[in-house]
Amino acid sequence: MQYPVNEIFETVQGEGHFTGFPVIFIRLQGCDVGCSWCDTKQTWLVDPEMQVSQQTVNKACDDKPHWANFTAQEFITMIQKNGFVAKHIVISGGEPCQYDLVELTSKLEQAGYFCQIETSGTSEVRATDSTWVTVSPKIQMKGQLPVLQSALRRANEIKHVIAMEKHIEELDALIVDIDTSDKIMCLQPISQQKRATDLAIKLCIERNWKLSVQMHKYIFID
Ligand code: SF4
Repeated sequence: MQYPVNEIFETVQGEGHFTGFPVIFIRLQGCDVGCSWCDTKQTWLVDPEMQVSQQTVNKACDDKPHWANFTAQEFITMIQKNGFVAKHIVISGGEPCQYDLVELTSKLEQAGYFCQIETSGTSEVRATDSTWVTVSPKIQMKGQLPVLQSALRRANEIKHVIAMEKHIEELDALIVDIDTSDKIMCLQPISQQKRATDLAIKLCIERNWKLSVQMHKYIFID
């Protein structure tokens, strides 16, 4: 199986439960969710005209809408050739769960890597059982894709972006039938806004949840 890749780079995880961990980021191309505030809109379309070489996507690519196909083995070869030392791989997007990730995650695990998927929850999660799944539910976005209960149940971590009270109400309605006792629950204020940050802090304290602050945007890294 081949996966369309927008960029591969080594960095530190900027948000959620693993904030600060060294990670290898694999950003897959393609997303139909349509969040208005998306900061990776260049990943939405898999345009045949924008197919490039594997070497071109082998770095942080500064918002380019290009992509290259990789097999799982080609990822591993590229990562090893780059001399990356992180053992934690984040498969992001785009919407990575548009693709069947079983083969990719199992080959990466066999090669000694821990896999994490970051998904909107709008597609079925197809990955190994030991893959860490972070669902950041995207509710009522332009693409009109419902957030799947199966994705929420599979999540190890639910990380919700909030700007105002209605966003926490939407999350509460979404997870009403989900047992969250074994999950990391995170709230993330949108776009470093003060009002959203204050609200997220207040709610995290009330609920004993974790605050996620997009550290990479404060320290100016990818
Ligand atoms: S799901 Fe992610 S990549 Fe897709 S539109 Fe929303 S924020 Fe952007």
